[in-house]
Amino acid sequence: MTAELEPTKKSLVAVLQFTATADKARNLQQCGDLILAAKQLGAKMVFLPEGFDYVSETSEQSMQLSESLTGPTITAYRNMAKEHSLWLSLGGFHLKDEKEKRTHNSHILLNSSGDIVANYRKTHLFAVNIPGKVTLDENAFCIPGSAISLPVPTPFGKIALMCCYDLRFSELASILTRQGAEILTYPSAFTSTTGVAHWEILLRARAIENQCYVVAAAQCGSHNSKRTSFGHAMIVDPWGAVIANCLEESGVAVAEIDLEKLLQVRLNMPVQSHRRHDLYRLNAAPVALPDFTAETHNFGGHIISRNEIFYETRLTLALVNLKPIVPGHSLVIPKRCVQKFVDLTEEEVADLFHVVQKVEAMLEQRYQVNSSMLTIQDGVDAGQTVKHLHVHLVPRRPNDFAKDEVYRELDRHDKDNRKARLPEDMAAEAREYRKLMYGDALHWTFDC
Ligand code: AMP
Repeated sequence: MTAELEPTKKSLVAVLQFTATADKARNLQQCGDLILAAKQLGAKMVFLPEGFDYVSETSEQSMQLSESLTGPTITAYRNMAKEHSLWLSLGGFHLKDEKEKRTHNSHILLNSSGDIVANYRKTHLFAVNIPGKVTLDENAFCIPGSAISLPVPTPFGKIALMCCYDLRFSELASILTRQGAEILTYPSAFTSTTGVAHWEILLRARAIENQCYVVAAAQCGSHNSKRTSFGHAMIVDPWGAVIANCLEESGVAVAEIDLEKLLQVRLNMPVQSHRRHDLYRLNAAPVALPDFTAETHNFGGHIISRNEIFYETRLTLALVNLKPIVPGHSLVIPKRCVQKFVDLTEEEVADLFHVVQKVEAMLEQRYQVNSSMLTIQDGVDAGQTVKHLHVHLVPRRPNDFAKDEVYRELDRHDKDNRKARLPEDMAAEAREYRKLMYGDALHWTFDC
């Protein structure tokens, strides 16, 4: 964890509320002014609502106004984040997908250097028909996201990215809380009808049941002749109290995120540990294809380039080895840095071993063997040198090691002074394995 990500116990953050229209330049100007106002109030992070880039009148107009992540809108916000040294949550950016002719409703997180650190694509799309009041089907112009984003470590706490209608699916918030979330975010454009009836109740319920801060930026007022939003951007504390509220007008409201207070609420009433996992499950579905978006990963303090990763799920990574004891010796690790096997959640254990199965099958095929050694050196006294749980996968050949010699070799291979492999050799091996794991389904470009 870098110094910047060491969470401070108390930080001011701001929720932003305004009325977006189809005029992108005007929206950008208004949000820019409000971001500045939030900074002047002392906020270190500002949360923008869904559709902060625009709210269009038709699906065709939405497609036409949409942009890529390198387009002028995200570039302008990246510059703003850097210039003001602020973290920004950009809820509900319309990310263009030329092929599909629809957009991805993307919740993007920028750090204070202006880097994109996460991009969650809204998974639950809003479709409602209350005759005479509101009719809206987001599927007409939006592609549903296919993955949950792991909570993102920030200086203010671990932030779970969600978006608007996701608020009605309490499982999502519970799973993200189980994965470490401290701040649940719901950038929204809630319709007025549903907002009056449900908005505050749902936000407070998510805060209370998960003992998390809830930050919900919002659209307000009339966007066009067809659409009006409820407003009431708010921040709720882990006890369920509303600690910031924008009511109906454009503006910002700030509140303190206090991680000590959050901990106290959780200690006083340890609801999460009272869950009956023996009776029901809280599991996220595994992801079919990875994002491979992170440039680097942490392996117990070692920085692993994504070029060395050849398989990725939401919770697990497979990587080639710096000092293999035999060709093909690979590692499977949880994304979360824990030292011991016992520290993994049920879900991480299951996912880790699913990946071990897949990688073992690939390696045996690749090296034309029918045996493998799967080993965890679970703690220093068992030979562990990198304090981040990892499974060694070693393809075995007939008579490759004298009796038990393989265990001695495994014990000394990264403690003696043998030479580490070159990054380009590791990247070439990972490239070959990626092809074997995914075939042509993976079109992400590596080595860039
Ligand atoms: P252990 O002795 O069980 O802790 O094993 C640590 C493993 O991590 C050894 O197989 C090392 O070769 C491997 N390793 C250490 N650093 C890296 C790295 N930067 N990239 C890939 N593998 C690494």
